[in-house]
Amino acid sequence: MAPSQNRSGNSVISIVDDPVESAQRILEQLDQLLCEAMLVAPGETPQATVAMPTELLTNLRQAVAEREQTLASMRERFEAMMRAQADAIVYSAEIIDELERTKQSLGEARQAAEQAAEETQRLADTVFERTHDGVLVFADRACVACNDNALELLQVTRDKIIGNWPESLSVARHPDGTSAGGDIRRRFESADLANPVLFEVQLPERSGSWFWAEITFSAFGMNGIDHVLAVVRDITSRKEFEVELQRHRDFLNNIINAVPDQLSVTAADRSLVLANDAYCAAHNVTLNELVGSQPAEFLNADLRQEVERIESELLATGLCQTSEQALIRPDGTRAMLSVKRSVFAGAQGDRYIVSTSRDITENRKREDRLRLLASVFNGASEGVAIIAADGRICEANPAFMDMVGDHSSEVINYPLHRVIRFEQPNVTEIFELVANGTTWTGKANVKLGDTRDRHFWVSLSPTMDCQEQSARVIALVSDITELEDAQAQLISQALYDNLTGLPNRRCFRERLETLIEDNNPPEQGITVCFLDLDDFKHVNDSSGHAAGDRLLEAVGRRIKSTMGSEAFVARFGGDEFAMILTASQHQPPHLNAVLESLLSEFRRPFDLGDSEAVVGLSIGVTHWPDQAQDVGSLMCNADIAMYSAKSAGKNRIGHFSPEMENSVNTRHQVQTKLRRALKGGQIALCYQPKVCATTGRIVSCEALARWKTPDGTVISPAEFVPIAEQTGLILPLGELVFRQAALQAVEWEKSGQRTTIAINVSPNQLRHLGFISQLQAFIDEMQVKPEWFELEITEYAMMEDVEHAMSVVERLADMGFSIAIDDFGTGYSSLSYLKHFRIHTLKIDMSFVRDVTHDPRSVAVIRSIASLGQGLGLNVVAEGVETAEQAKLLADIGCNVLQGYYIGRPMFPDQFTAWQNDHVAASL
Ligand code: C2E
Ligand code: CA
Ligand code: CA
Repeated sequence: MAPSQNRSGNSVISIVDDPVESAQRILEQLDQLLCEAMLVAPGETPQATVAMPTELLTNLRQAVAEREQTLASMRERFEAMMRAQADAIVYSAEIIDELERTKQSLGEARQAAEQAAEETQRLADTVFERTHDGVLVFADRACVACNDNALELLQVTRDKIIGNWPESLSVARHPDGTSAGGDIRRRFESADLANPVLFEVQLPERSGSWFWAEITFSAFGMNGIDHVLAVVRDITSRKEFEVELQRHRDFLNNIINAVPDQLSVTAADRSLVLANDAYCAAHNVTLNELVGSQPAEFLNADLRQEVERIESELLATGLCQTSEQALIRPDGTRAMLSVKRSVFAGAQGDRYIVSTSRDITENRKREDRLRLLASVFNGASEGVAIIAADGRICEANPAFMDMVGDHSSEVINYPLHRVIRFEQPNVTEIFELVANGTTWTGKANVKLGDTRDRHFWVSLSPTMDCQEQSARVIALVSDITELEDAQAQLISQALYDNLTGLPNRRCFRERLETLIEDNNPPEQGITVCFLDLDDFKHVNDSSGHAAGDRLLEAVGRRIKSTMGSEAFVARFGGDEFAMILTASQHQPPHLNAVLESLLSEFRRPFDLGDSEAVVGLSIGVTHWPDQAQDVGSLMCNADIAMYSAKSAGKNRIGHFSPEMENSVNTRHQVQTKLRRALKGGQIALCYQPKVCATTGRIVSCEALARWKTPDGTVISPAEFVPIAEQTGLILPLGELVFRQAALQAVEWEKSGQRTTIAINVSPNQLRHLGFISQLQAFIDEMQVKPEWFELEITEYAMMEDVEHAMSVVERLADMGFSIAIDDFGTGYSSLSYLKHFRIHTLKIDMSFVRDVTHDPRSVAVIRSIASLGQGLGLNVVAEGVETAEQAKLLADIGCNVLQGYYIGRPMFPDQFTAWQNDHVAASL
């Protein structure tokens, strides 16, 4: 393009569309202009000679350079624009393609949507018409559409319902009969899009009855208007099913709760699904609290492990398991449960464990009790048997079997009275008595083979068998054989003489009493004889006690054999025997010849083993009923007669005669006087000291009675004590002596000079049953202590009735008295008895002491008594010490205490105190 000329003639650079081209063109024009200016052809270098204003040229060049720069950047922009334009064109083409595709798919979608809408409409119509529910559409509280079912359910025609609120819903009711119309209306109003409402009411039926309906209201919008869709469903059969189901469930629940055992069901994960009332009560929780919990939480760690093990095994094997487990009840008590577990599969195949727990605590206790009772029954040392109403043995314990000696089952079912022999002959009576509710006790026995009879004490008590409602009898059987034997032995000891086995004095008296009673009025007389050996003491002294014992035994045998079995022969003690003769050949006139033959029999020596002895016999005879009527008088007569025989020269027969009674009368007079003396204060006590054999210190004193008659004479106890013994006055005498001794002890205690007082106890006192209680009464009354006294009991009194004496001595010792055996060595005591007596002192009889200095045998006796005493830890007292020689010898032999005239005579209290003071002073 050539530069055009403008109206002013100046060349104008025209700008074409293409900026590059136009820029190019501008450059060319500029160049041309420049050349024209410098008079050179374009492209030629101007001549320096050309006169060209330099400044202009420079400016032009600068302008050209700037123009070139602008041009370059314009070209760049242009090229970028061109590239963008090309991209835009490509992008536009892609968009157009996309649009085309979208248009196409939109068309397809509309078509599909239209089709779907059509199908939905068809489906809705189908559902609407074919559904079993009644479906209604409401707009503005009026029905605008409904299906046929709705008409049917609501008992209405279409033209009546459209545009209206269904009448049926207005009259609907609740199950309790109250109207539900208002309620339905409220629920209708409350329905919205988010919260459809569902409820159950009863709607009327054509028949007049009601059916259960479930109504759902859900709101929706259509064409900008709020609509409510109502679905009415007849749920009568479901309701009936539910009721039936509930009934079943209740029934099952009732059954489960009626089970007294604890019942629970746990799922395989061990969470609890179901439990009955018993279970809840046992754990003190409600079912709601329990369901879903882990019952194992109730258990302690050990038990939990055990239960888990059992349940795992159960799930693995499916086998029913029974175990026992302890439970701590809510109240803290311990219970024992028997738990049965089984497994079952639910509808979905999931498995459950059913556990039933039974509280067996009481059972356990009952079992334990039964076991205990059984062990008592089996282990009892007494025989126990249960007897049926017909008297047969139903059960018997081992002790019973032992007792009757039959361990075979044959005892069972055998009548009791055939197994043991009742002492009462009428067994039927016994059982009748027991059947009437009375307990019977009595004796029975059994004969076991060759052995002795066994004796039983049997108690039969009625009992009721609770289960069989029949009466039974419990028989308790104690073996009393040993007891019976012991009793028999005691009786024998009480009535028989130990040494000879002959009846003793008591037995003799009883026999005589019975005979007199039985033979009264007398058919024939009874002869009573007292027999006393002459010079027996001599045998005893010369040959020793053992020989004396053998002699006495032999005498007993000889009297019996001579007199025959019809004579009742007794030994009274010492060398005294007695006979009761009842046989006619023993009565006068034969009597004398019989007794003479007895005397002649005694002339034969008695064999004593290593020696022989001859003793004479003095016999006193009296006769009942002509000489005396009562036992006492008879014995007194016989005694008098015997003494008369003795005084007449021994070894003879003395027949009682009234003259002899004179001496008795004398005794009677003494007795009367003594009674008066006791009352009149004529009896006083004097005291004889006993001293330690080594130190000479006074250890005690013996109280000895003295009778001071009004005329001033003093009578020795050797005279009046035997009479007091015979007449029974010894008891008041003993009482008096103890009283006086006690007063003396109190007085001495007060003066600070108390000495133990020994008091003599006579055989009669010892025998007296009230002796101990009387002593106790004195102790209490006189305010003295038993420890202040020593009681001297003669060996003879001790041996007369050993058992009795032993028990009295035991009780006296228990009370605190010291006990001494007086006149020891004279009796016939078997020394073996000695250790059984609770005694403290042995007083050697003075006959030994008297001879001690000249008779080696007395020394031997004293020595053996002293060593025996030492062995038994007893004091050994020598009494009757009259000389210094005796005193020394006795002390050397081993006597620890000495008593006798050499030490001090018996003295009245004043003298005794004076003596005591002198003695103490002398020994100082
Ligand atoms: P006994 O119990 O053996 O008392 C010892 C007797 O020997 C006393 O005679 C006493 O005075 C006497 N005696 C003491 N030392 C000697 C001595 O060195 N040589 C000799 N030859 N004799 C001595 P007593 O007092 O005549 O008593 C005789 C028996 O009378 C007593 O013998 C005792 O059995 C009994 N008796 C005395 N007082 C009572 C009493 O209060 N109650 C009872 N039941 N009997 C009494
Ligand atoms: Ca004495
Ligand atoms: Ca004595």
